[in-house]
Amino acid sequence: MQNSVTPTHCPYCALQCGMNLTPAPDGSVEVTERADFPVNRGALCGKGRTAPEVLSSRVRLTSPLVRSDEGTLVPASWEDALDRIAGALSAVRAEHGPDGVGVFGGGGLTNEKAYTLGKFARVVLGTSQIDYNGRFCMSSAAGAGIKAFGLDRGLPFPLEDIPRTGCVILVGSNPAETMPPSLRYFNELRENGGKLIVVDPRRTRTAEQADLHLAPRPGTDLALALGMLHLVVAEGRVDEEYVRRRTAGWEQARAVAMAHWPEYVERITGVSVPELREAVRMFCEPEAAMVLTARGPEQQSKGTDTVGAWINLCLATGRAGRPLSGYGCLTGQGNGQGGREHGQKADQLPGYRKLDDPAARRHVAEVWGVDPDSLPGPGRSAYELLDALGTDIRALLLMGSNPVVSAPRAAHIEERIRSLDFLAVCDVVLSETAALADVVLPVTQWAEETGTTTNLEGRVLLRRQALTPPEGVRSDLYVLHELAARFGVEKGFPVDPEEVFEELRRASAGGPADYSGITYRRLAEENGVFWPCPAPDEAGSDLAEGEDAVLDAPPADDPAGEAPAGLITAPAVHPGTPRLFLDRFATPDGRARFVPVPHRPSAEEPDEEYPVLLTTGRVVSQYQSGAQTRRVEELNNAAPGPFVELHPRLAARLGAAEGDPVAVVSRRGRAVAPARITTAIRPDTVFMPFHWPGAGRANTLTNPALDPTSRMPEFKVCAVRLEAVASGRVTGD
Ligand code: SF4
Repeated sequence: MQNSVTPTHCPYCALQCGMNLTPAPDGSVEVTERADFPVNRGALCGKGRTAPEVLSSRVRLTSPLVRSDEGTLVPASWEDALDRIAGALSAVRAEHGPDGVGVFGGGGLTNEKAYTLGKFARVVLGTSQIDYNGRFCMSSAAGAGIKAFGLDRGLPFPLEDIPRTGCVILVGSNPAETMPPSLRYFNELRENGGKLIVVDPRRTRTAEQADLHLAPRPGTDLALALGMLHLVVAEGRVDEEYVRRRTAGWEQARAVAMAHWPEYVERITGVSVPELREAVRMFCEPEAAMVLTARGPEQQSKGTDTVGAWINLCLATGRAGRPLSGYGCLTGQGNGQGGREHGQKADQLPGYRKLDDPAARRHVAEVWGVDPDSLPGPGRSAYELLDALGTDIRALLLMGSNPVVSAPRAAHIEERIRSLDFLAVCDVVLSETAALADVVLPVTQWAEETGTTTNLEGRVLLRRQALTPPEGVRSDLYVLHELAARFGVEKGFPVDPEEVFEELRRASAGGPADYSGITYRRLAEENGVFWPCPAPDEAGSDLAEGEDAVLDAPPADDPAGEAPAGLITAPAVHPGTPRLFLDRFATPDGRARFVPVPHRPSAEEPDEEYPVLLTTGRVVSQYQSGAQTRRVEELNNAAPGPFVELHPRLAARLGAAEGDPVAVVSRRGRAVAPARITTAIRPDTVFMPFHWPGAGRANTLTNPALDPTSRMPEFKVCAVRLEAVASGRVTGD
């Protein structure tokens, strides 16, 4: 393994860029271009390029830590640390029952880890109290996708389709900062004559490149989609034949849209009627078009409905389930997609099965060798679970997450974490949350272990181990294996990721996210496989390998999916499914569902006391809670701390100059950061990135109001007031 080139993938975002890693004799690791991986074709952003810095033992944990009698974290042996965790979790279970123990995972965990964590919670601990930070990321898009299409997969088509469509509406997405190598798809779209529309309250780097930038007031993009749908109807642009043949529920959705006439929508959103008309024209004139959403519309207390309104626009215009057309979600976290498919979500079993479905429970229980009745039911969603810490949840096992920085209403969540009887954290660095733990376990990271992830396209990938982990570091799978053994469960928790994946294949077989036809060997040979990919038996074929079978899915050599289904001959091995819904949607009758979704205000609207809107997001040189990227010198120099982005008019009212400290105050707390004054933001809105802890922690301010379907908190909009720290002036003076 040493000194050889290993093709693998970046540890950070959902693009999962391919890269080559070469360890050098001095212990450093060189990142080089991996041109054979089609998603990024060799391009990397600064985060990917510098990712090996976090592998260095200079910045990471290399020994278990336990809390001493004096209250400090001190090094300990693995035996001691694991015994303490098992002892504490057992004691809590004995006193408070299985649900007294919570488990919290992360969207960065590999499929194997997410699967094993969910199994560990339900089989070993017997707790229903498990969820993960991916709930904060794209769960509203998942909820809307399931309602409309019967299935949630980030993109129902590969990124390579984008340059060949006619128009893309990017809603609340800023890939120029969040996943820069993906920008080339949008640039190629425009070079080919296609149009790019960006919907964002800020003129972001992505919006600067758009043909049309619509800047609605935060929390009003649902109304914007309704206004566009209204115009689609009024201008006779509905694809009546498609609506009749492939959808259900149009009349109710139409009635809601007709109540949102353009002038009314202009008053709600601030987007003018001519801009709305221009957007409709750009979207409807080409033969094919797409809508892609990201955290902007999704992280709202009405996120599922907001995404649903954009899906309705696609359905009414016949832009879903057709070649080069469709709705998709640009998933954020590295394994945001796979992480939500294999059982670390409160309501799910592997294969994207529902925990409250008796048939799903039977299938998974059989794979696990347990009684279906022994599996607990659905538990609390991520915020609700964190909010219950120290009340009926007395102990928490946390893997790959840093909620002290990333959870909404973060000061309250920090307090809840501090009130636990016992906290165990597995991480690579001493994050702000790990620093509060009773036991911290140092675990391997991406380049030191093998595992699979599923990128935003639904492409399952093999991340290969490229180097030997430092002394003292063990894998998350080892941790779960050892803890299970301490609870008397000797079998079913292997340390070898491929062994876990083989079981995951069986557990997912027949489920919506069916991985049963995927093997490590295929992943290595084919550079990834799109799910669903049933094993030959699951695909309805009992042919021997090498014989031909008739498949529903378009084969890899028919990228536009234009060959009629049912006439495709292919080898007995399922080719995977790059494009979904081309013949039918995943609903019982094969039709997509319109969901009537009227506009409603955000949970918190501005008032006299809190007259300004706050929206939060990311910057190019930091990733999520910053636990890793804040430890990389180059990234830290480029983005050293938080800031408050505000319009010159708001700054003038405050008397704040560029760089002056500004306090942002919400009903949940106060954060202070330097002013960054720009006309690129609406005058009624301020923006803060959320990557930092401490005084400038944006999530001190954010509102945990939850979407009723996805239980996604409303990170993207809340009411605040501003105070100029130097002069003491506040907004509204
Ligand atoms: Fe890594 Fe995402 Fe950057 Fe690609 S775009 S290098 S996956 S952080």
